[in-house]
Amino acid sequence: MELLIMEEIKSKANYCLNCVTKPCSNKGCPLNNNIPGFIKAIKEENYKQAYEILSETTVLESVCGRICPHTKQCQGSCVRGIKGQPVSIGELEAFVGDIAIKEGYKFAEINNENKNKKIAIVGGGPAGLTASAFLLKKGYSVTIFEKYDYLGGLLVHGIPEFRLPKKIVKDTIQKILNLGLQVEYNKELGKNFTLQELEDKFDAVFLAYGANITTKMGVDGENLQGVFGGNQLLEKKLHPNYQGKKVAVIGGGNVAMDCARTIKRLGAEEVDVIYRRAEEQMPAEAKEIEEAKQEGIKFLFQNNIVKIIGNQKVEKLELIKTELVQKEGEKRKVPINIENSNYLIDIDYVIMALGSMPEQFTNNLELDLDKYGYIIVDEKNRTSKAKIFAGGDIAGCKGTVAWAARSGRDAANSIDEYLKNI
Ligand code: SF4
Repeated sequence: MELLIMEEIKSKANYCLNCVTKPCSNKGCPLNNNIPGFIKAIKEENYKQAYEILSETTVLESVCGRICPHTKQCQGSCVRGIKGQPVSIGELEAFVGDIAIKEGYKFAEINNENKNKKIAIVGGGPAGLTASAFLLKKGYSVTIFEKYDYLGGLLVHGIPEFRLPKKIVKDTIQKILNLGLQVEYNKELGKNFTLQELEDKFDAVFLAYGANITTKMGVDGENLQGVFGGNQLLEKKLHPNYQGKKVAVIGGGNVAMDCARTIKRLGAEEVDVIYRRAEEQMPAEAKEIEEAKQEGIKFLFQNNIVKIIGNQKVEKLELIKTELVQKEGEKRKVPINIENSNYLIDIDYVIMALGSMPEQFTNNLELDLDKYGYIIVDEKNRTSKAKIFAGGDIAGCKGTVAWAARSGRDAANSIDEYLKNI
């Protein structure tokens, strides 16, 4: 590492107070990473130890260090942030992850204690990868069934290169593969194999596939040509030619930001993000919103869609302004349409980035589902069937990579407990 970078890292680490109560870890970080612990090791220039401390709880340091919404998670709980800037926890975590990749630090020594017990994981995204690493660490034989010909899930196809370089994802995955992970690529549940087949062949199954069907708004014109689902657009790279076009992105989360920024980079003349609440209420990370603004993305806050207008293809959007009203029983203010404030804008494409739902085939798995179609799990990630566990998006886990990873780690511990008791 260059001297300048090392000096900067040291100074960022030295800014940490090593609080005994560690709210950053206990309240902020979904994975409960030992943040003051690994930062202390950086201060002492013991980077291997910093990595070992992080490895107790995570396998995605280089990823989470870059893309977590830190201001809403660890850094949002940092004591330093009360009167000034919080510690740059994300940057320090990414530094440790990167140095571990470069120096070849091992995630864990593998013993073969449980090698005769076989576990199938469906889906190689953050939850599946994390579960596999922690199960391999415990010595189990683990196979991931992945529908694409690559691992990583949304880390590869959902998060653009400018936020998370593919090389970082590839190197992180390689570290997990090096633990002895087996992978069946191009194998999709419900298409190439059934849950029953996994139940017959494996001692436990962890379902960790995504829920990527874009939620519909239920407005007129949603089926016109030129309306796309945000998740599918990023996942399947279905981008049309945006040159000289005006694009509206509907939604206020990180998927909306990723879509807007990607589309602008692909040549759209204008990209408008339309969000029915105010800027402060946007679920997207403040840094992402700021960067999007700097890149020329326009924001239409407190605007709601009335309908999409066009003859076969999108031509205009009818919008209505909203006001925010505090209603009894609601935690945050509710957007209410302002009567007669409707107006039209010309638009060529509409991207729905409002959230996502599970795919239809989940209904055929004979597992208990909630009313939205997500698999119901208990506090140990157990489904309604013995032997079958679920986590990440498909189990309705909170939508950040760190929360998905947390559910993968929890599931690994529950599977271990289950297999030791049968
Ligand atoms: S809360 Fe902030 S200052 Fe305190 S230990 Fe955590 S990172 Fe360091």
